[in-house]
Amino acid sequence: MTFQELGLHESLLEAISYMGFEKATPIQEQTMPIILNGDDLIACAQTGTGKTAAFLLPILHKLASKNSHKTSTLIVVPTRELALQIDQEIQGFSYFLGINSIAIYGGGDGADFDQQRKALSSNTEIIVATPGKLISHLNLGYVKFDHVEHLILDEADRMLDMGFYEDIQKIISHLPNKRQNLMFSATMPPKIRELASKTLVNPKQVSIAISKPSEGVLQAAYLVEDPHKPALIRHLLRDKPNYSRIIIFSSTKRQVNEIVRTLSGENYTVEGISSDLDQKEREEIINRFRSNKTRVVVATDVLSRGVDIKEINLVINFNVPGDGEDYVHRIGRTARADSTGVAITLVNSDEMFDFHQIEKLIEKDITKQKIPTQIGISPEWNPTRRKQNNFGRSKSGSKPANNRPKPNNNAKPQGSSGDKPKKKFFKKKKTSGTSPNASNTDK
Ligand code: AMP
Repeated sequence: MTFQELGLHESLLEAISYMGFEKATPIQEQTMPIILNGDDLIACAQTGTGKTAAFLLPILHKLASKNSHKTSTLIVVPTRELALQIDQEIQGFSYFLGINSIAIYGGGDGADFDQQRKALSSNTEIIVATPGKLISHLNLGYVKFDHVEHLILDEADRMLDMGFYEDIQKIISHLPNKRQNLMFSATMPPKIRELASKTLVNPKQVSIAISKPSEGVLQAAYLVEDPHKPALIRHLLRDKPNYSRIIIFSSTKRQVNEIVRTLSGENYTVEGISSDLDQKEREEIINRFRSNKTRVVVATDVLSRGVDIKEINLVINFNVPGDGEDYVHRIGRTARADSTGVAITLVNSDEMFDFHQIEKLIEKDITKQKIPTQIGISPEWNPTRRKQNNFGRSKSGSKPANNRPKPNNNAKPQGSSGDKPKKKFFKKKKTSGTSPNASNTDK
């Protein structure tokens, strides 16, 4: 289906054509008529499906037709990176419309706060906010939400994982009762259904490929014990001289530093991203990666969600992510929209059980390979064995493929940004007030 067929505003069609989008993605095709019709919606869609444009385009279409210049749309998201990214996408799409927006997130200095305060009290049409920072502003009493007509909860499952359930309820209590509610989530656990039943009114439901990586990702696993992992990484990279953009995910900062050291020793242009770096430093690294000055980025989960870097050829999971959703999000860095990519996971004996849980979640048997004999001997595939800790319990407790850290409202949201406006030809029309230099806290 084309965007013309959806009946979008002329100026939006113009911006879409600048963006190079030729036709609607499946999530866009299914959700946009519902949103345009004014219905509530619960959509199960992962990042990489085009879900952001799926809700932005119909909302912008409505705002363009109304021209009311009041704060009419609130988009609540889990991380600052996602807030910045959505804000930039709004700026791109609304370039010919003159609709303004701001990203509200934590960690900035007094000047940032002041700029956010002004935007929140002066009818900025679209607010994209992380819950913690928005609550801080709401508590100060100047936020004008009387005219909000659209509430969008994006990556709702992630927000609940981060412990934002109560904050979301509190935010909703500040909104007019009569409004359109849209909820996007990669998964639909019971908590999400509960939030949906409290928030949405007779919602239409759309589900796109629940928790499954995009079709274009070629997935493989190597059975390899930890001491052999660095040598295998070197081997994999040597084997792929034509891959210009590679991300290696590891679970700890210490490992990130070790991998960076190993690869620098081999003369790769490689940089590490972890919470040790401030926002500005991370952005500089991402920008060097985007402009192909850095070939390999090694990162903790900082990068797994929210950051849109196109055309990543190879994602390597140095260890099996403890959570199936994180696996999907990590490998979702490749094969964005209509490109293809390769995702390789290094699985040691203790990680086999968890990896098998991920296979079940995504309903796919991933090819398991042995490491080259010059590196060492691969363990046999045995997904029934679970790692025992000192108390005789499995590493991951009773839900091995879902051992995310417990929600912690005071935790720094992970994330990096590097989010320079994606479309350079879109000059900013109105100030959006985002400050990419903020440090890394939401609350
Ligand atoms: P998202 O799922 O919102 O993170 O979007 C993933 C990527 O797909 C982003 O880079 C979008 O700019 C891109 N995208 C969204 N819609 C389309 C489309 N209809 N055609 C091509 N690319 C798209």
